[in-house]
Amino acid sequence: MKRPTLLATIRSHHLYLECACGRGAEVSVLSAIGRIGHSANVGDVVDKARCAACGAKSVKGVRIVYKGASDTAMAGAAGKVDHDREDDGGVSDW
Ligand SMILES: [Zn+2]
Repeated sequence: MKRPTLLATIRSHHLYLECACGRGAEVSVLSAIGRIGHSANVGDVVDKARCAACGAKSVKGVRIVYKGASDTAMAGAAGKVDHDREDDGGVSDW
């Protein structure tokens, strides 16, 4: 019933891990792949995860969170901003 999900298939997602102490932490699947490899699955992340609050390796729950690609979209738009700034030159410091 508990079939492990390969990280490679959920690359643009995040994993929300919840510790037995109640603390939750989110890691991006991409950074998890970077750390433990392409063929790892969600269960491997759970095995390796250690709570930053209590130091225990006791993940009691994991959730796969989809965030979309908004970071990339913003980075792409940032390059265009300068062009619209031409009539912004009324103030000068010198
Ligand atoms: Zn904890």
